[in-house]
Amino acid sequence: MSVLDGKTVAEKIQVELGTEIEKLKGEGGIVPGLTVIMAGDDPASRAYVNSKSKLAEKMGIRSKLVKLPETTTAEEVIQTVEAANSDPLVHAILVQMPLPRHIDHWKILDRILPEKDVDCFHPTNQGLILQNRSRIFPCTPCGVMKILDHYGLDPAGLNAVVAGRSFLVGKPMAAMLSNRNATVTLCHSRTVNLEGILREADLIVAAVGKPAFITAEMVKPGAILIDVGINRIDKEEDFANFCPPSRYEVFKKKGYLLIGDIHFQAFAKAGHYTPVPGGVGPLTVTMLMSNTVELCKRSISVTRDA
Ligand code: NAD
Repeated sequence: MSVLDGKTVAEKIQVELGTEIEKLKGEGGIVPGLTVIMAGDDPASRAYVNSKSKLAEKMGIRSKLVKLPETTTAEEVIQTVEAANSDPLVHAILVQMPLPRHIDHWKILDRILPEKDVDCFHPTNQGLILQNRSRIFPCTPCGVMKILDHYGLDPAGLNAVVAGRSFLVGKPMAAMLSNRNATVTLCHSRTVNLEGILREADLIVAAVGKPAFITAEMVKPGAILIDVGINRIDKEEDFANFCPPSRYEVFKKKGYLLIGDIHFQAFAKAGHYTPVPGGVGPLTVTMLMSNTVELCKRSISVTRDA
């Protein structure tokens, strides 16, 4: 059983990106620009957005956070998107999910210019992924592929099961694994016999959002386990059910613990696994920076070719 250390992979990519960012600055004083739009004050979204802003600053990416209140209207969010669309200093736009419940997120995501759509939310970009001709990929599934590639784990021919079918993670993940020649089963809340399907998997990507949902009994010995889930545990009884006793001191000190969708006992059976924290999470923010730089470079080549 070996740990797939996302932090190490992320740091390596950040070093390479740093060189590219310096090159852009040296060539014509170009600074990649990212605008993140957040509506409402969901605590998890706030934490994600802060970590994105922090990394952007560290990497020398110009990042702007637009915070809108929970009571904002779809029209206000669209206006913010349009302002970023028409700003030449903004190369990448991210609308932080989830939006407040009264807003139809498709109405908003459809308005992001596909060439500034940093997490591939726009239908054009999702379509390009399905057709295997996209040049950038959604940050989280892209991060998963980076981890697999870094550790030389080729998905070709593997029986891969993706649990969770959100348009953010599960669906593009399934398409990307299929594009890399895995045989993919995409599972969801209405899947019949999920346990049986998981037990046949050589590679499991868990993106369900339920703590320790996939247990050791559901995992084939030697499988590759990629845990995308991030769940906050702050009750003592949940800690006892879901967390290894070795993390008790941290739980007590912080008052909570972040865990994934895969029960820790399953890791002992795995061939390889990503931990939470320190697995997919660091890649998600890093790929956001990487996609921002890629979109910036592409906007320059479009301007030059025009
Ligand atoms: P989501 O709520 O949009 O989707 C959850 C999916 O899980 C749905 O498709 C649903 O059908 C499926 N599901 C629910 N119950 C199920 C069950 N009993 N059996 C099988 N499938 C079931 O969530 P999301 O945005 O895709 O995120 C999933 C998890 O990944 C969350 O914990 C989220 O916080 C985490 N996440 C982590 C990162 C990261 O960087 N590590 C990035 C994005 C999301």
